[in-house]
Amino acid sequence: MAKTVKTAPNSAMISQRARPEILAMGGYVSARSIEKSNRDTIFLDANECAFEPFIGAQNLSRYPEQQPTALQEAICRWLDVSKRHITITRGADEAIDCLVRAFCVPGQDNIVICPPTFAMYAQSATLQNAEVRQAKLDKTFDLDVKLINQTTDKNTKIIFVCSPNNPTANLMNRARILRLCADYAETALVVVDETYVEFADSESLIPCLDAHANLVILRTLSKSHAAAGLRCGVAVARSDVTGLLQKVLAPYPLAQPVVDAALTILSAKSQSVLAAKRRDIVTRRNQVAASFAACPDIVEVLPSDANYLLVRVKDAADLCEKCRASGIILRNQSHQPGLENSVRVSIGSDEDMQAFLAVVRGETISARTNQRVETVIRKTNETAISVRVNLDAAAPVRINTGIGFYDHMLDQIAKHGGFSLEIECDGDLHIDPHHSVEDCAIALGQAIRLALGDKRGIGRYGFFLPMDESQVKVALDFGGRFYLDFNADFPESHVGDLPTDMVPHVFYSLAENMQANLHIAVTGENTHHMVEACFKGFGRALRQAIRREGDEMPSTKGSL
Ligand SMILES: *Cc1c(COP(=O)(O)O)cnc(C)c1O
Repeated sequence: MAKTVKTAPNSAMISQRARPEILAMGGYVSARSIEKSNRDTIFLDANECAFEPFIGAQNLSRYPEQQPTALQEAICRWLDVSKRHITITRGADEAIDCLVRAFCVPGQDNIVICPPTFAMYAQSATLQNAEVRQAKLDKTFDLDVKLINQTTDKNTKIIFVCSPNNPTANLMNRARILRLCADYAETALVVVDETYVEFADSESLIPCLDAHANLVILRTLSKSHAAAGLRCGVAVARSDVTGLLQKVLAPYPLAQPVVDAALTILSAKSQSVLAAKRRDIVTRRNQVAASFAACPDIVEVLPSDANYLLVRVKDAADLCEKCRASGIILRNQSHQPGLENSVRVSIGSDEDMQAFLAVVRGETISARTNQRVETVIRKTNETAISVRVNLDAAAPVRINTGIGFYDHMLDQIAKHGGFSLEIECDGDLHIDPHHSVEDCAIALGQAIRLALGDKRGIGRYGFFLPMDESQVKVALDFGGRFYLDFNADFPESHVGDLPTDMVPHVFYSLAENMQANLHIAVTGENTHHMVEACFKGFGRALRQAIRREGDEMPSTKGSL
């Protein structure tokens, strides 16, 4: 692993190939590069204000570190490397730019790219007035090492390799990349852009830094961690290269809110949630690829190791236009060498992909606009909750409130309600379940109300349900006003980890936020049965009430 990087004996220091003026200059000495703060330090050195700009602001008044220590540590845990090997940047794009600026003498040096590939390498080189040389990928869209060797010369400073490659979606052959590292050990950097590696069935090349001093790996939170808006990426390299990059990099590239959010994203909990979501994307990608096979306009779907598909079609411009007319934007890649009539399609949500497939099959979609999908994000000091419902799909149902029995109950609502429900909750369970239970119900109620829209075509109504000795009666009306009548006398104070006095609260919050009248009466002897019957019965009543039975407003008033 890179943690044990030794200085290779013949590392005639690839960094000596950097621009001479960059080698000669000292880094900018920023306000935070000299002193590490501790509680007693009085900072009067950077003309900052000694108070926060608004109530609730945290750490906004002071300049951040160029490489914030806590974020370095989190990234080192993520990538299993040590601090001196990473440079954190505003996305991988900025890392590309810093590499070019550090190494390419304007008007003299060149870089090599392997098209069809990602556009930013050439963009950054052109801005630096470095020549862009092209060594096209071979017929299988893999590296053509021989061609690369013919393309380079003594002024070649960087060879960019994108793996998995954007837009062809395939991994590059590992042995060929390492061959390049060896061939150019003392003359050029081999920069491997691994933006999409988390979606591939493959290991990162980071451990190869041990053997190759000219290797640089790029990673980013943009794609694999669903955080393109955050602007946070990282270059992993040997420490001499890292040092150069940090000379070229701005003194404060990472705003404090970015650092805080990146730390949340890199926490163990988010990482495991994101890994599960990436697996969903991969599954969906494979399903979509399979469905394409049956579409007459699609000539070929290229194998993908990423979160997008490259498809060859009969007429790329026509498909893009047809999709645009239905509100779906694709990326036509036909301008790239070897990609005539090729279109790149990102793997979106299940509904997105259904809508896309409908257009490809020549069905006009009202499908998407017609789906009753809603996401509600609710954040307070006590809980952070995300609820997503799709009233017109039965799956997925995925619930994680942190309260096992409550998950089980919300699952009943979704299953018996016949709709897709995803809930994630990060709540103050160390205090008690109260806030999490109530806030999830509030957010769920809101999501259902918003998803129902103008309620055109829905029914309104109720359900009886026995469960062993228990019996529940549920009546529900989405009349636009809120009323709760809840009648239960639970014998026990808890079912599992859910306090039973929270059950009426849940239905109160649901009814209030759905703007519905809700009557629930339950009788029985076993608390578990009684509680579960309430949730099941509510789900069943909901199923009837939300089902579209036509296009009528279910009220003589004309609106609800
Ligand atoms: C999207 C993309 C990037 C840009 O990443 P940021 O971290 O958002 O700057 C870099 N490389 C490739 C191959 C990409 O597709």
